[in-house]
Amino acid sequence: SSVPTIALNNGVEIPQLGFGVYQIDPADCVEAVTTALEVGYRHIDTAEMYGNEKEVGEAVRRSGLPRDEVFVTSKLNNGFHARDAALRAFDQTLADLGFDTLDLFLVHWPLPGIEVSYVETWKAMEEIYSSGRCRAIGVSNFTEHHLKRLHEETTVRPAVNQIEVHPYLTQEPLRSFGAEHQIVTEAWSPIAQGKVLDDPALVEIAQRVGRTPAQVVLRWHVQRGDVVFPKSVTRSRIEENFAIFDFELGQGDVASIDALNRDERTGPDPDTFNYIP
Ligand code: NAD
Repeated sequence: SSVPTIALNNGVEIPQLGFGVYQIDPADCVEAVTTALEVGYRHIDTAEMYGNEKEVGEAVRRSGLPRDEVFVTSKLNNGFHARDAALRAFDQTLADLGFDTLDLFLVHWPLPGIEVSYVETWKAMEEIYSSGRCRAIGVSNFTEHHLKRLHEETTVRPAVNQIEVHPYLTQEPLRSFGAEHQIVTEAWSPIAQGKVLDDPALVEIAQRVGRTPAQVVLRWHVQRGDVVFPKSVTRSRIEENFAIFDFELGQGDVASIDALNRDERTGPDPDTFNYIP
């Protein structure tokens, strides 16, 4: 029961389950990523904004695994949307990770209100992709109108859109738009940072199928076809979140979890978020 991979729109394969490192203190990050790699995770989701790219790279090197057996994603931070800044930021990300190539690089936020258009930013991402130092490029927190504008004004299609998705924010329209345009949806905060785990409907399903609520929610994401990377620094939870490929939810349970949607975000709204560090 190993982790399945999904083919991106350029043929690159991404493991459907990964390990997220947002809010992991750099001092704890080498250990957390080392634990995840020991447990069997082969996909790490970091970002320049998280301040722990060096530690992610260090843990991958220390694991002794061949570089091409671990899929690593990072993201362009909000202060670097202008073309030259974006190219430099990518170089810095590679240097901090200590890698020659990155697997996936994302525009972290569209920042619709700032002076530099995300279209310019995406054209810089296309240059990075053409350089051959990044196997795939994508976006994060883009909504349908942002994606449509990229389709109209640029050449390379984003391989993924990484957005907030969990049982209280199921994102059906945006996920369908992605599916129609060969953009894989990656679900961030897949368990809503723990907020969904006490939901009575999830607790009932978990008890009935003999799994934990976190496993039920992660399994629901996987059966819907999205990529997930739950975060934890606790070995038992890192193991628990990985053990979701030896059971299946029935269609009725998937539908009941879909029905928990309340369009409730835990994070910022991408149409108004313009934070630059
Ligand atoms: P998450 O939904 O993965 O929840 C993590 C928290 O849930 C942990 O801190 C822990 O408190 C708890 N938890 C984890 N496993 C558990 C378990 N088995 N049982 C009980 N509690 C458990 O939240 P997240 O870290 O926000 O999201 C995951 C990843 O998504 C991040 O690490 C990051 O890589 C990515 N992300 C991206 C963006 C973006 O803007 N692109 C934003 C947020 C997160």
